[in-house]
Amino acid sequence: MNQSQLITLAFAISFSLANVVVSARLFPNISSFLPEPAHGHAQAYAQAHAWDAFLNFAGCHRGDSYHGLKNLKSYFQRFGYIPHAPPSNFSDEFDDALESAIKAYQKNFNLNVSGVLDAATLQQIVLPRCGNADIINGTTTMKKENETASFTKPRFHTVAHYTLFPGMPRWPEGTEELTYAFFPGNDLSESVRAVFAAAFARWAEVTRLTFRETASYFGADIRIGFFSGDHGDGEPFDGSLGTLAHAFSPTNGRFHLDAAEDWVVSGDVTRSALATAVDLESVAVHEIGHLLGLGHSSVEEAVMFPTISSRKKKVVLAKDDVEGIQFLYGSNPNYNGSTATSAPERDASNGGICVTCVGPSRSVFTLLTFAFAHFALL
Ligand SMILES: [Zn+2]
Ligand SMILES: [Zn+2]
Repeated sequence: MNQSQLITLAFAISFSLANVVVSARLFPNISSFLPEPAHGHAQAYAQAHAWDAFLNFAGCHRGDSYHGLKNLKSYFQRFGYIPHAPPSNFSDEFDDALESAIKAYQKNFNLNVSGVLDAATLQQIVLPRCGNADIINGTTTMKKENETASFTKPRFHTVAHYTLFPGMPRWPEGTEELTYAFFPGNDLSESVRAVFAAAFARWAEVTRLTFRETASYFGADIRIGFFSGDHGDGEPFDGSLGTLAHAFSPTNGRFHLDAAEDWVVSGDVTRSALATAVDLESVAVHEIGHLLGLGHSSVEEAVMFPTISSRKKKVVLAKDDVEGIQFLYGSNPNYNGSTATSAPERDASNGGICVTCVGPSRSVFTLLTFAFAHFALL
């Protein structure tokens, strides 16, 4: 590519950024605001509840065939429990591979390890969750035994359950500040940005790392954006609930959220009238853990546990989260051993309007993500 082509490309991208608005369903106070379904939302809702069909597999057992069981195999493959088989190869047969996937899943989620699709297992499977896999290349597992806890740093005779990515990637030794920026096409309000700032602050509280917002999306260490469906990185979002967000290991910096979720920016998410309400800060705290190098934990109280129910808030770092991040980056000298139990209340009236946007033409958005996919800039 010659210089004039590069200039043209840069112009095309900056022109697109200035003109693209990606819809994100962000609600300043879900308790008092019940939105009408946005365009396309009804379909997304139906898709998200496709996981609910798995509830019909209760009592299924090895050796028999069940219609739709291949979808459950795809689910397990996506999250690392069935390695590498192309989805087209999956049958509806309850085979050995499925049984061992179920057992590994049950172990990770502290369930009775039976290999049977019991009610408790299925109820866990259908919960909304992070899009990152629980097992990566078959080399990590959320559940550690004392003798195999290679990444653990036991303290006070306890065993940590946090995990790291294969190869233990982290931001370079000596990193003090990481910058973050928001995808310009999202045009997020101050109150939404404040939620992310609060989420970063929870990790800064326990480490020496600090985080600073910058306007330069492409120059930032961490790039945050709300996207819909297939957005160019091979990890398409699936509409309301299902997968909520995903983030890449250090030092990639990409942090993507599903624009189709009903994101709650402030207010008491637990009292939301909307069954699909998802707490933005809870998901942000979790994904920042990935951006810094943490994998999923089998400790249910940990923010790095892979699932979170709708209408639930979980933002306080658990002991397991703190041990994991301090293993990578050391402790904040000012950290006194206990994390904040609640964030300062943000004023919902400050910029408190619904920031659901009118979406761009699909073609512009698709073009933009195509360009990003090719230049790995997202
Ligand atoms: Zn995750
Ligand atoms: Zn993505």
